[in-house]
Amino acid sequence: MASRVIPVDPFDLVIFGGTGDLARRKILPGLFRRYSSGQMPEGARIIGAARSDLDRAGYQQLVNESIAEFGGAEKSDTAMLAKFLETLDYTPIDAKGEAGWDALSGMVRKDVVQAFYFSVAPSLFGDLAQRLHAHKIATDQSRIVVEKPFGRDLKSAKALNKSLRDHFDESQVYRIDHYLGKETVQNLMAVRFGNVLFEPLWNNHYVDHIQITVAETVGVGGRGAYYDRAGAMRDMVQNHLMQLLCLIAMEPPGQFGADEVRDEKLKVIRALQGVDPHHIVRGQYDAGPNGASYREDAENPRSFTESFIAMKVHINNWRWAGVPFYLRTGKRMKSRTSEIAVVFKDLGHSIFEGDEKRHRNILSIRLQPNEGMDLQVTIKEPGPGGMRLVDVPLDMTFAEALGDSDHEVTDAYERLIMDVIRGNQTLFMRGDEVEAAWAWTDPLINGWEGRNDVPKLYDAGSSGPEDALMLLHREGRKWRELKG
Ligand code: NAD
Repeated sequence: MASRVIPVDPFDLVIFGGTGDLARRKILPGLFRRYSSGQMPEGARIIGAARSDLDRAGYQQLVNESIAEFGGAEKSDTAMLAKFLETLDYTPIDAKGEAGWDALSGMVRKDVVQAFYFSVAPSLFGDLAQRLHAHKIATDQSRIVVEKPFGRDLKSAKALNKSLRDHFDESQVYRIDHYLGKETVQNLMAVRFGNVLFEPLWNNHYVDHIQITVAETVGVGGRGAYYDRAGAMRDMVQNHLMQLLCLIAMEPPGQFGADEVRDEKLKVIRALQGVDPHHIVRGQYDAGPNGASYREDAENPRSFTESFIAMKVHINNWRWAGVPFYLRTGKRMKSRTSEIAVVFKDLGHSIFEGDEKRHRNILSIRLQPNEGMDLQVTIKEPGPGGMRLVDVPLDMTFAEALGDSDHEVTDAYERLIMDVIRGNQTLFMRGDEVEAAWAWTDPLINGWEGRNDVPKLYDAGSSGPEDALMLLHREGRKWRELKG
């Protein structure tokens, strides 16, 4: 099945930080993919703006090299790539000073969609917002795109929001959480609200518990210094896992509109209970045959920062009362796995004599690897020997189900950038959502910092610390296996 490409209106996209790591690895290769698929219209332009003293040709070369390194199969079309490079322009700019702003003002057109991607440190967001206005570059229609981390606590998130809202309306601000751009994450909503099968069961009458796992095999690598100030809670839970939790738990919005969806997500965050410290397990990976310990990677021999966290969370509302949501995320784990598993209750009574196993339907939605979903159902084990029951998955890998050959799962960044151009904020976090997420997160972090909590060591390549397994075991449940 060929993917349908809906062209967007002509635009000028200015990438502040256009020479940085994120721009080179994700944004520019993603834009080239959209260009190759015919989505970028004639007349669309991409303007890099960063500190490096480059001219247009120098920037084109940098982007060419970035696509050679990080681009997909489409980069082999050299004629297409040459045309894409023609859409690029560049100006050196100083976010904190006046250099470069007049030049930028002369480049950006007023009669097309204007988007400004702040792919720079958050400490520069306020400067960029202010100068875009002072130099009369931005208009009431301009859009700005900002990256995580959006603050490191409620106070800093509020300050960041203020620095943007002093110059832009909330309807112009696109806060990226690239998890929301993933195909499967959007499928969560399609599955829940596009089928009659699931929604009647989606509550505490039928759901025993829900597990959300985001496990990585990599360590903190070159990001050690940043990560050590953040930890898994700030780096992953406050944003990505929280977003997944919202989408799985929210009430059906009246329609699939940006504010309708975000209003429902916000209600989930506001309904989150505080977490009992006994229901939080923090871990740090130890040295292993394939790598150094967390403390070595972070170059902080006394670090108490968690590279793993597992927790049991409750949502205080009618639908989910009594249903635990177990969240876990970590680095240097057994496999690179992201999934959400909805574990349904077992039958109260079995009519099959001798069948003592607790059969459970489990709907699992995989973000990686092999984006897709499967539903564990109970059937009769084939062959003679009476009614022996066995649990098997009804498996659907999207790439197979949708026709492998020409269906490419669009990368989250490119999808989100095109949504910015279309003016669709549904998959972006609203300011109040981010603040509510920090309001829930702050007391948990303050709690363990106040207790001088020491993270438990876990073996690199494992499923995390033993205590995390116990979090479920003591309630007669178990984590889904990380298939390594
Ligand atoms: P980077 O350090 O590689 O690049 C920073 C960019 O900002 C460079 O282009 C630099 O020229 C520009 N810059 C710095 N100071 C400037 C100034 N005073 N005026 C104008 N330009 C200036 O950073 P990065 O990794 O590309 O990250 C950019 C943002 O995206 C950060 O907020 C980061 O937290 C976030 N982010 C990055 C990644 C990633 O994979 N790299 C992932 C998620 C979020």
